[in-house]
Amino acid sequence: MELSKTIIGLEVHIELRTKSKMFCSCSADHFGVEPNTQTCPVCLGLPGALPVPNEKAIKDTIVIGLSLGSTIPKSTWFDRKNYFYPDLPKGYQISQYKNPLCVGGSLELDSGKKIGITRAHLEEDTAKLQHATISGEEVSLIDFNRSGVPLVEIVSEPVLSTSDEAKEYLEKLQQLVRYLGVSDADMEKGSMRCEPNVNIEIKESGKLYRTPITELKNINSFRFAKRAIDYEVQRQFEEFKEKREEMTPGNKQTRGWDETKGITVLQRQKEEAKDYRYFPEPDIPPIVWTDEDLKSFATRIKEIELPKEKRQRFLREYSLSDYQARILTDLKEQAEYYEASVRAGKEKGVSPLEIANVVINKRAGKDLSPEELVEFIAREKEIKEVPEEEINSLIEKYLEENPDIVRSFKEGKPQALGKIIGLVKKELGVIVSADKIASLIK
Ligand SMILES: [Zn+2]
Repeated sequence: MELSKTIIGLEVHIELRTKSKMFCSCSADHFGVEPNTQTCPVCLGLPGALPVPNEKAIKDTIVIGLSLGSTIPKSTWFDRKNYFYPDLPKGYQISQYKNPLCVGGSLELDSGKKIGITRAHLEEDTAKLQHATISGEEVSLIDFNRSGVPLVEIVSEPVLSTSDEAKEYLEKLQQLVRYLGVSDADMEKGSMRCEPNVNIEIKESGKLYRTPITELKNINSFRFAKRAIDYEVQRQFEEFKEKREEMTPGNKQTRGWDETKGITVLQRQKEEAKDYRYFPEPDIPPIVWTDEDLKSFATRIKEIELPKEKRQRFLREYSLSDYQARILTDLKEQAEYYEASVRAGKEKGVSPLEIANVVINKRAGKDLSPEELVEFIAREKEIKEVPEEEINSLIEKYLEENPDIVRSFKEGKPQALGKIIGLVKKELGVIVSADKIASLIK
């Protein structure tokens, strides 16, 4: 019996950085805010409250979809997903089921492998449960500030075959939405969450078997995602040896990743779509895009330089290596800082390559402006261009001409060397250290 294939699909949730929530005007910026201070009848799910969709959230979702090469269906609508849980006051979540905003597309890994995207849809986030002990009593607290925050769900095809590919996919997706400026996509803060769906194919005596699919939760870093998948693959292999249970429709479970123990723990047997009793949200009319709408979405995405395009342009314009272009475009802010420095460097004769080296190796101070960075490199270059022997012989000449300085130094007054530093700087434009001068005193 051998493991012949690992099958991974990823469901990723991304909180959009809009001003207001998905269906009401409460602030969507909930991180670190005092609990239950940003709520209203809509996001508390009070009877009679009516949702009004957030236009920016819808457009941002479409931009994400287009950046992944998705098709935008001409008409779309919201559905109610019914289930009962304390973090969902209405008893249903407004989501999308039959007709999502974005369909299809792909995300390319560095290997050139394209990971198909099934869909990207828009929904509302739930409230946040917090388990605590108050006066010796175990309680569950609910913070509704997060309830109703716009949430995009991006579902990949189950075509990832290693935990490394899954990690790279997540990193690339994070980079993409950050470039688009639609989310900070921070795994630790929970503004980006991922749920890998994992199962494996086992080969035995020429026959192939597939294990039941597991959905993994509680993952809040890329590293955890990789570790959880690796653990789960091994666990499913061992379990199959023992129980020989195969994948069947509906035979799916949810397991939570326990980082401290390094294991996944069974949470529940997964509901099937029919258990959610989806139906179209009656309080929100369907959305129908005009040709002009679709054209304007396409224009918006054309104006944004995506990570891959930026990387290729950096390679072309600045004669960088693939590694350099990759590091410099990793973060949009870093890429912009680099390009501002290149512009400033033009006047000072500092080349894009010289700037790239200093930025990548973090040789300059962190808070330098692009102009200061170029200044730093220009100075560094000047120093380098004077040969060591020339500097040394000049220092020796000054030492000979100034026996009083040598005497003061020998009497324990190193500050006397300051005059020589000044003389060398004036002559060669180079700043030498007092230690260097001292080493030349016989
Ligand atoms: Zn509200």
